[in-house]
Amino acid sequence: MAQGLHIGIAGAGVGGLAAAIALHLAGHRVEIFDQFDAPRPVGSGLVVQPVGQRVLEWLGCGQAARALGAPIRMLHGVEARTGAGTLAVRYDAAGAGLHGLGMHRASLFEALHGRLVALGARVVASSQVIASSADRQGRWLQMADGRRAGPFDLVVDALGSHSPSRRWCRACCLMARSGPRWSGPRPSCQPTA
Ligand SMILES: Cc1cc2nc3c(=O)[nH]c(=O)nc-3n(C[C@H](O)[C@H](O)[C@H](O)COP(=O)(O)OP(=O)(O)OC[C@H]3O[C@@H](n4cnc5c(N)ncnc54)[C@H](O)[C@@H]3O)c2cc1C
Repeated sequence: MAQGLHIGIAGAGVGGLAAAIALHLAGHRVEIFDQFDAPRPVGSGLVVQPVGQRVLEWLGCGQAARALGAPIRMLHGVEARTGAGTLAVRYDAAGAGLHGLGMHRASLFEALHGRLVALGARVVASSQVIASSADRQGRWLQMADGRRAGPFDLVVDALGSHSPSRRWCRACCLMARSGPRWSGPRPSCQPTA
């Protein structure tokens, strides 16, 4: 690639951090924004499945993740009241050596964030993204405190399952679905509710 894109990523959860590392490794210039005051994870534990472990390896944080996690060979679930079986997963049934990787979310965050920092990128904290808009210069992220970040060639929404961007993008998504390619000035994505 001759010249990478300038990419803004909204949200530094597992998704945003992994996207930031992957895009950085692909030669793009990445800026990542999160509302937290200092980089930190939310939530408790999770199981990284074999395909997720392959991705962590590819991102360059497989070793760090393995050191912070514990291999899980089998999952067995029962209904508490009746004792009836609800889940039976044997990882080795799918292929030799496969296992889940049980991790606290803080550990997964640490592995990804450590890799991002080692690559020379950083998360801009205290940045609550409230809107995104586009003009002839590119796409912008609007923060709650009045700051505006950009212009970016591309913005990635990694704000999680409660992302407000569904509201911002209603207008342009409808536009994209309803006809020929947009050829005029790029549409603005401002909050509609
Ligand atoms: C109880 C539970 C158990 C789970 N167990 C597993 C499991 O075992 N294995 C597995 O693979 N997955 C599991 N998941 C799913 C997994 O946790 C999610 O898929 C994953 O966390 C999503 O990551 P994300 O980065 O997309 O979003 P999130 O982790 O939600 O990160 C979003 C980030 O965006 C930031 N943010 C939000 N709004 C704004 C804003 N307006 N401005 C700026 N920043 C903002 C937040 O601070 C946060 O840092 C589980 C989920 C739950 C709830």
